[in-house]
Amino acid sequence: MSNDDCLFCKIASGEIPADKILESDDVIAFRDINPQAPTHVLIIPRRHIATINDIEDADAADLGKLYIAAKEIAAKEGFAEQGYRVTMNCNAAAGQTVFHVHLHLLGGRDFTWPPG
Ligand code: 5GP
Ligand code: ZN
Repeated sequence: MSNDDCLFCKIASGEIPADKILESDDVIAFRDINPQAPTHVLIIPRRHIATINDIEDADAADLGKLYIAAKEIAAKEGFAEQGYRVTMNCNAAAGQTVFHVHLHLLGGRDFTWPPG
């Protein structure tokens, strides 16, 4: 299922260009247009899911694959052992701006905790 008005569905279909670094039947990863770390990659399921609140049991495998992609990209980019951050924002309080679930993969610098 895709959403005609969804930016990340359009990136997934190729209608809008992005710097894609991984593409499979279920998952796509591309570099964030406004990076917050030396490496900032967005990892999305190909199927449209608006927010974490919309995730259903049938989506579990696709969501798991986002993390498999994250660890593979972290290894490829060379910061798997050093450490990195993955985060998924949900709705306004967390600052979600694109309503197609996406895992942020940030690496290449140290991160503080708690996050802002
Ligand atoms: P959110 O705030 O929803 O968690 O994250 C959305 C992310 O998408 C932001 O980090 C933002 O920079 C990124 N973004 C927004 N529009 C585009 C775009 O057109 N292309 C790419 N590659 N990233 C985008
Ligand atoms: Zn979408």
